[in-house]
Amino acid sequence: MKALVLTEYNHLEYMDVRKPHIGEEEVLIQVKACGICGSDIHGMDGSSGRRIPPVVMGHEAAGVIAEVGARVTGWQAGDQVTFDSTIYCGKCYYCRKGFINLCDNRRVLGVSTGEYRQNGAFAEYAAVPQHILFRLPAGLSFVRASLVEPVSIAFHAVERTPLHLNDTAVVVGSGMIGLFVIQALRLAGAGRIVAVDLDQSRLDQACTLGADLGLKSDAVDVVAEVQRLTEGRGADVSFEVVGIPPTVNLAVQCLRKGGALTLVGNLKPTAELPVQAIVTRELSLYGSCASKGEYPACLDMICRGAIDVDALISAVAPLSEGASWFHRLYRAEPGLMKVVLTP
Ligand SMILES: [Zn+2]
Ligand SMILES: [Zn+2]
Repeated sequence: MKALVLTEYNHLEYMDVRKPHIGEEEVLIQVKACGICGSDIHGMDGSSGRRIPPVVMGHEAAGVIAEVGARVTGWQAGDQVTFDSTIYCGKCYYCRKGFINLCDNRRVLGVSTGEYRQNGAFAEYAAVPQHILFRLPAGLSFVRASLVEPVSIAFHAVERTPLHLNDTAVVVGSGMIGLFVIQALRLAGAGRIVAVDLDQSRLDQACTLGADLGLKSDAVDVVAEVQRLTEGRGADVSFEVVGIPPTVNLAVQCLRKGGALTLVGNLKPTAELPVQAIVTRELSLYGSCASKGEYPACLDMICRGAIDVDALISAVAPLSEGASWFHRLYRAEPGLMKVVLTP
C-alpha cells in the first residue's frame, strides 16, 4: 500500500510499505481522510521527541472497515468509522475508573517515542483495535468526521471547567483548538466569550464562530479590557490554548478572584507562575488532556452542524501531496489551519 512515511526528521516520503497486519481484536481501516495535527508538525523536526523515524503519522482519521480480526464483534467490513487517537488498555487503575485518557499504557496512533512505535493513518490502510472505534452518523462525510479528535479535545477542556450559565470566558489562543473551545463554550452557555490572539484574521474567525470580542494581545491591554467588561472583576473562567509562559500568565491575570483556568496548550514544558496571585485570589488550575468519552457527542454535533468544522478546513488534498502540505504548515503559512489528506 501507499503511505506517507517520516523516513528521517523533516523528510516525508510517499512510498510503498507493507499493509498492516491486524491482530485478533483489531480491524483494518481503509483510510478515507486524515487531518494533519499540530503535534505532527511539531513532531516532524524531532523537537517533541514523539515522532522518531521511521513512522507513519496521523491520528485524526475516518474510513471504512476493510477487514476484521477473528475476535472482533459488532463491527464488519463496510462500516464507516472513526477512532480515538488514544489506544487505552482498559485494564489499568485509570481505565477502570473511566479516565481512559490517563491510561498507564496509553499509546497514540501515529506516534513513536522510543518506548513504542504505533503507525498511524497517513496511509491507505491502518490497523486499529476495536475498542476505540466509533460509528459515523449517517450522512457525515469522512473529511468532517476526521476533525472529531480536535473537537473532542475542546469539549473535554470545557467539561473539565467549572462553567456556569452566563459566565464570562477568556480564550487565550485562537488557533484550531481555541476556535473549537469557543464553539463549545457557546453551546455550554457561556455569557460573554473573549478571544485573544496575535493574528487579526484568527480573531475575526473567532468572532464569526461565537466569540463576542477579539482582543489582539500586542495591540490592547487584554487584562484591562477584560476587567472593563466585567465591572472590574475579571473573567470567571479562562482557557490557555497555546502553552508558552506569556500566554499562561495572561490567562491567569484575566481571572476574577475564585476563577478557574483550564490549560490545554503545552508547546513548552514549563512556565513560571504567579504563585501569590493564585493562592491569595484562590484560583483553580485544571490540566486537560485529550478526551475521555466525548467522541459520540462531538460526532453528533458536527453532523447536525452545531459545531462548524468546515470553517477551519483550509484544504483537502491527496495523500501523495502530503509532504508539501506538511512543509507549508511547518512554515506557518498565513491563513492555513487544518489540512486533511485523502489517500
Ligand atoms: Zn491531534
Ligand atoms: Zn489503561
